[in-house]
Amino acid sequence: MELRKDPITRSWVITGDDVGEPAPRPQACRFCGPSADLTNVIATLPGVDGSAWSARSVVHPQALYHIEGEAARRGDGLYDRMGSVGAHEVLLENPRHDGHIWNASDIEVEQFLRLAAQRIQDLKRDSRFKYVSIFKNHGEAAGQEFDHPTSQLTATIFVPRRVLYELRAGREYFESKERCVFCDILAQEERQNLRIVESRGDYVAFCPYAPRVPYETWIMPRSHESSFERTGSSRVGTLTDLAALLRRTLQRIRTVTEAFHLVLHTSPNSQHPSATLGYWKTLDDDYHWHIEILPILEAKARSYTFKEIYYSPVTSETAVQRLREAKI
Ligand SMILES: [Zn+2]
Ligand SMILES: [Zn+2]
Ligand SMILES: [Zn+2]
Repeated sequence: MELRKDPITRSWVITGDDVGEPAPRPQACRFCGPSADLTNVIATLPGVDGSAWSARSVVHPQALYHIEGEAARRGDGLYDRMGSVGAHEVLLENPRHDGHIWNASDIEVEQFLRLAAQRIQDLKRDSRFKYVSIFKNHGEAAGQEFDHPTSQLTATIFVPRRVLYELRAGREYFESKERCVFCDILAQEERQNLRIVESRGDYVAFCPYAPRVPYETWIMPRSHESSFERTGSSRVGTLTDLAALLRRTLQRIRTVTEAFHLVLHTSPNSQHPSATLGYWKTLDDDYHWHIEILPILEAKARSYTFKEIYYSPVTSETAVQRLREAKI
């Protein structure tokens, strides 16, 4: 595998012909029970309520990125390419094979969030990595890979395009207004109360004003904080509220559809000594971490295939009513 940069959009893609056939799904789960493979465990959080463990990170069995080696960025005429150096982990959200976020206890979800924060913090110590992504693809339409309840993590030597857009927009807004655009969005949403799904402690779930897909929902802390992993380590108590809100929001979304993508957007690695990327002094002031949930409505596949302009046949004001009233 290698990374190639699109010279027009400046986004990196990972490509290669060296991907084997996907392994047939094993009969027994590779992540739990007697058949669990413990050779590639990276981190484990202690159990709650008497279980041996609560959340665990393992090397992805078909990792797209590998921790060894040099990125060796090189030119190819006008193009840029580099090796697929990075990390690719599977985060086991729960020791139980059916312990999904939406039916786990808040303390279990909290442990998973804590593991996610620890893994990001740990990988950010490696100054080669510019960004650590955490995401979850659930349901066949979303490209779910494992039956066991899992999320995934990638540490990359580039910042993903969508995050880059957000970082640039956050910086520009801050330059002109000296305020965080995310804080301003949340303040207006709370004032108008047209698209708020639910709030819990410091956390708010809402449908964004211009959704990319029907029922798109974001979860954001009200207190300004650029990095999720810092929330995880310093304001420990509040993670319980986040766990409860995440669980309840996914319950609501599941009354509409089974399949969804979830992604955590946190600040890039400020340990990385990149001059060209120009990490700016106001990064901690102008960026604000959040979770984005993109449900997949199969009948509305049009909104996914036509990606030049997003088309969502349900406005956020309509979506929020259905999500608020969902029986959960
Ligand atoms: Zn399992
Ligand atoms: Zn903010
Ligand atoms: Zn985002």
